[in-house]
Amino acid sequence: MKNDDYSRRTFIRKFFQLGSACLGFGMVAGGCQSEDSDRKDEGDSGNSSGREDCEDLSGINQEEIQKREVYGYVKESSYPNMSCSNCSLYLEPESGNKCGGCVLFDGPVFAEGYCDYWEPNES
Ligand code: SF4
Repeated sequence: MKNDDYSRRTFIRKFFQLGSACLGFGMVAGGCQSEDSDRKDEGDSGNSSGREDCEDLSGINQEEIQKREVYGYVKESSYPNMSCSNCSLYLEPESGNKCGGCVLFDGPVFAEGYCDYWEPNES
């Protein structure tokens, strides 16, 4: 009998501890998601306030960030005549924005950037 009381108490205590932990994790995760979605609403290409914003990947998911690395994206091309701005895969900045985008991955791209998939813009 005494053993049953102990087991029941242990079970109830652990149940509430686990519930509290899950609730805390849910609140933290929910808060992060809300912040991410707020940033996502500002647009994938960043905003209009300058160079630093083209480095802001806070609203971009990890898979898309990894694509940048796999494709060898750098924010400043080391080739004089080859950069994102004259690449056929470059997405021009939306009105008022300084950061462009790329067809290959989400997020802001520097016009002066470059990656291994650079293709000359023939138009
Ligand atoms: S493919 Fe590479 S070089 Fe071309 S726009 Fe995208 S990141 Fe820039």
